[in-house]
Amino acid sequence: MSPRPLAGVLGHPVAHSLSPTIHNAAYRAVGLDWRYVKLPVPPERLAEVVAALPASGYRGANVTIPHKLAALELANEVSAAAGEIGAANTLTFRDGRVEADNTDAAGLIEAIETPVSAMRVVVLGAGGAGRAAAWALREAGAAEVAVWNRTGERAAALARELGVSHAPRPFDAPADLLVNATSVGLDAGECANDALRALSLLDREPPEIVVDLVYRADGGETPVLAWGRGGGARVVDGIEVLVRQGARSFELWTGKTAPLDVMRAAARGESA
Ligand code: NAP
Repeated sequence: MSPRPLAGVLGHPVAHSLSPTIHNAAYRAVGLDWRYVKLPVPPERLAEVVAALPASGYRGANVTIPHKLAALELANEVSAAAGEIGAANTLTFRDGRVEADNTDAAGLIEAIETPVSAMRVVVLGAGGAGRAAAWALREAGAAEVAVWNRTGERAAALARELGVSHAPRPFDAPADLLVNATSVGLDAGECANDALRALSLLDREPPEIVVDLVYRADGGETPVLAWGRGGGARVVDGIEVLVRQGARSFELWTGKTAPLDVMRAAARGESA
């Protein structure tokens, strides 16, 4: 009998990841006898763990903080998205080779659900999530993409690299869509107004669509989402983006259509 196929999420820390809940629910729903586990791995052990995973029955792994850059270096093949973003969130083990991809980008575009081609977009943040978001929106043909970051030089460098604009202040560029790709709002104990002030959103009207990549383990609403919703925007939360990127990884590994409703319900602690 062949061993039960495995997948997992490589991170440090990884204790709070929702990915096992999302993927294991999906395996059950489509009748796959697979198992998805947390793989807490410190940076100095990443290479040896990735090398050992295929022989231990692993078909793939998601990659989260702090391994997204290093994972790219360990791959034999790199997708265009992962290569151009400079980070991988998905590794696929196939025929003795490691394939790196970045499903955060496609996951974001799918979560928005509306074509972005006519939209002017502001991305807040120039870290890993900001890079993936700005690249994804540019690739999806957004009419304008402007990146703002607290440390302005990082946004300027990212804008130059991707051929998009740098917004020295969040509202310098008019926007139809705003994506919060900073970590502001992650801490449930933080005062909501302080979080909004850090992003210069306090007392501003939100654009038509607001996406917050940040999500909280307790399922609570983040300050940016509350701001968007309160101002009448259509809001897309970080759990929806997480589910969409997870669905892409699931399809890469299993070749089956991801049961999105089941994955979404699992992520939100509901029954599908
Ligand atoms: P990262 O590389 O560490 O970048 C953090 C970003 O947040 C930087 O742009 C940083 O600005 C900014 N920032 C931090 N504190 C700030 C403050 N007080 N005021 C203004 N800006 C501040 O992290 P990341 O990987 O990009 O992730 C960012 C967030 O996205 C995290 O909360 C992560 O959980 C979330 N995320 C969600 C998904 C999803 O699927 N939903 C996927 C990926 C990431 P500086 O450059 O000035 O430090």
